Amino acid sequence: MAEAPHHVIIGNSIAGIEAAITLRRRDRAAKITLISWEHAHPFARVSLMYMFCGQLSLKDTQFYPEDLYDRMRFARVLDRVTGVDPVARSVTLLSGAAIRYDTLLLAVGSTARRLPWPGAYDEPHFLHHFVTLPDLRALDAAAKKGMSVAVIGGGLIGVEAAEVLHLRGLKTHFLIREPSYFPVALDVAESEVVARHIRSHGVDCRTDNPVDGFLRRGGRIVLRGSDEIEVDLVVGAIGVVPATGFLAGSGIALNAETGGVETGDNLESTSAPGVFAAGDCAQVTWPDGSRRPEQIWYTSRDQGRAAAAAMVGDDVKYRRGTWYNSAKFFNVEYTTAGYIPPALPGPASAGQPPGEGWQTWYQQVPGRAETQRIVSRGGIVKGFNALGRRWDHQVWMRWVQERRPLQWVLEHMKEAGFDEEFTEPFRVLPTATLTEGA
Ligand SMILES: Cc1cc2nc3c(=O)[nH]c(=O)nc-3n(C[C@H](O)[C@H](O)[C@H](O)COP(=O)(O)OP(=O)(O)OC[C@H]3O[C@@H](n4cnc5c(N)ncnc54)[C@H](O)[C@@H]3O)c2cc1C
Repeated sequence: MAEAPHHVIIGNSIAGIEAAITLRRRDRAAKITLISWEHAHPFARVSLMYMFCGQLSLKDTQFYPEDLYDRMRFARVLDRVTGVDPVARSVTLLSGAAIRYDTLLLAVGSTARRLPWPGAYDEPHFLHHFVTLPDLRALDAAAKKGMSVAVIGGGLIGVEAAEVLHLRGLKTHFLIREPSYFPVALDVAESEVVARHIRSHGVDCRTDNPVDGFLRRGGRIVLRGSDEIEVDLVVGAIGVVPATGFLAGSGIALNAETGGVETGDNLESTSAPGVFAAGDCAQVTWPDGSRRPEQIWYTSRDQGRAAAAAMVGDDVKYRRGTWYNSAKFFNVEYTTAGYIPPALPGPASAGQPPGEGWQTWYQQVPGRAETQRIVSRGGIVKGFNALGRRWDHQVWMRWVQERRPLQWVLEHMKEAGFDEEFTEPFRVLPTATLTEGA
């Protein structure tokens, strides 16, 4: 009888654990090993901010029961992988041990993009990030009420870091290089609503404010850039990069620009047979044909499941389905579903459709940080972006898939609303605009 295969998974977070569960469902006999340096049990990285505030413990964020590993007969190794040899089919651990595999899944996620300031990482306790558990612990230990902190980078991680540091009582500067906040997801008008809201909490939120580096003056750290700002701490939130540094020279092809593992449609490495990648570290094909990592929670889950199916020989073609995401900018809800174009540069771009044949319907509720933007093409709705109210993205995704016309969607918007008993019902305002793309 042939020996049961050994599937090794590097990474025990959403992509890794979903792959392991899928593998076990497909093969009761296989040996499945999960390796992780960070924590022995998957936790919701998206909840780092609640852990920082003490609202959730690490255990609260564990999304599977602790007996899962025993029930599913997963082996666990708490160690860091330092190298992979795809020819010998083995991985090397920091402890010196080696583990042989039949198939290998790289589900190693991301790490914070480092700030390119010479000497910044040599300054003790000065420069922080907000991506991993050690990042959280280091920031938690360093951030004291009354200190002054700069959060550099206007994305989702930056706004969460700024919020929790402000709540702890640090004087918080939120410094954004771009002319508007989060331009990949918000247009200029939406971004201005968010920035105003953040400022209304007392956070010093500055757009168009690149920081080039820092200098020491009289024992203090002074940030250099558009303005000089004296701070005790910095949180670098200028994005994340695949945590694939340890694969350099292994023969597993990495994308030169992103560092993502180059994969085919079935998430198998393009250069190392038997090696697969899923989650934040995988270079995948986007619906527009471009290739880069997706780096969000639910696509990591879906890729983990797809890669596992490919590892047991299924004919897999991974493509992301209809996009959705949700977040909070301080207490402003953000929900998006379907296709929303990134902001075009310049203030005139507010509500600008992406091109000829496209339309943008937009409204802002007076006196509230609440907006709705609906993008359509030829009158058929393609995507939604909304601030300041909870929406059911599942309903919106269904409408995009059903190719609903704009007028029909506006008439049915209430069906996608949550919390109608707490908020005024949705209505189309007389100030709503419909802009045609040129
Ligand atoms: C603060 C924050 C907020 C976020 N908020 C959202 C959100 O609101 N919505 C959303 O969709 N996404 C959000 N994300 C992104 C989301 O968390 C990631 O897309 C997701 O965690 C990626 O999952 P993954 O399994 O690919 O990798 P990760 O969750 O990054 O896990 C990587 C795993 O690999 C292990 N590992 C890495 N390298 C090695 C090695 N060399 N040896 C051994 N083990 C290794 C780690 O220990 C870990 O177990 C947020 C991320 C952060 C940091």
